[in-house]
Amino acid sequence: MLRCNDYIFAESLEEAYKLNQKKNNVIVGGNGWLKLRKRQWGTVIDLSGLGLDKIDENDEEFRIGAMVCLSDLENHKGLDKYTCGAVKDSLKHIVGTQFRNTVTVGGSIYGRFGFSDVLSIFMAMDSYVELYKGGIVVMSEFAKMPYDRDILVNIIIKKKPLKIGYSSFRNQSTDFPVVTCAVAIGEGRIATVVGARPSKADIRTDSAEALEDINDYAIKTAKSFDYQSNMRASAEYREHIAKVLIKRTVERIINN
Ligand SMILES: Cc1cc2nc3c(=O)[nH]c(=O)nc-3n(C[C@H](O)[C@H](O)[C@H](O)COP(=O)(O)OP(=O)(O)OC[C@H]3O[C@@H](n4cnc5c(N)ncnc54)[C@H](O)[C@@H]3O)c2cc1C
Repeated sequence: MLRCNDYIFAESLEEAYKLNQKKNNVIVGGNGWLKLRKRQWGTVIDLSGLGLDKIDENDEEFRIGAMVCLSDLENHKGLDKYTCGAVKDSLKHIVGTQFRNTVTVGGSIYGRFGFSDVLSIFMAMDSYVELYKGGIVVMSEFAKMPYDRDILVNIIIKKKPLKIGYSSFRNQSTDFPVVTCAVAIGEGRIATVVGARPSKADIRTDSAEALEDINDYAIKTAKSFDYQSNMRASAEYREHIAKVLIKRTVERIINN
């Protein structure tokens, strides 16, 4: 349950930013993760009145507001077409429809969770976060940045000519993933993201020539990430699954 002394609907990003500088205050997205924390907050800052719940698309890019819920991402026709269904594939196993109707893309990316399907798929694309004070930052850089008190306003995806694919492996449907894998091929290169190792998603890029032998590419790329064991899987098992997911995802993209 979310416990707080005060709950404010911010009237501007500046107001939200100023309130968020106090350590005991917090921004709320969809409250999916925040409510699990056993803490009494000072002021909870709600961004839902700031028009950040829209996805804008033009010839060059998608601009996705931080308060867009995961099911709006999942059902956006333009994103689905651009990513050949990969965004939908990345989100469809996250808990259930009602949950995805409430949790936000801003909370998901800001959280930079190790298990994140959301971070994994965005990292494979040419994507950026727009921070209120920090400006525009490449997604893979943002993933490594320490948590601060800035506000994530938008996520931007540049429409590069890429073919994109997504796979994940779960011990049980709707559980956290054991391994996530997102691949983007285009402009003479391949980018492969592997997440839930269980540490957060990371990316490897190679020239497209590396795909002359897909099996070899999958083995080498899977080996280049580090893995740890936890209650869901051992490090060795994760590496094996990563290899299988990379190979299958690349083959699916190439054969489509
Ligand atoms: C039981 C459970 C299972 C899950 N399974 C998966 C899964 O399989 N795969 C997956 O990818 N994800 C999974 N998630 C994560 C989920 O998809 C969301 O990413 C998560 O709930 C956070 O989104 P939210 O909108 O609820 O954010 P909140 O819980 O509201 O916020 C999360 C954090 O982000 C901060 N924040 C929110 N919005 C902003 C903003 N605009 N600017 C700055 N900071 C902000 C908050 O202060 C807080 O620290 C799971 C979550 C739960 C609770």
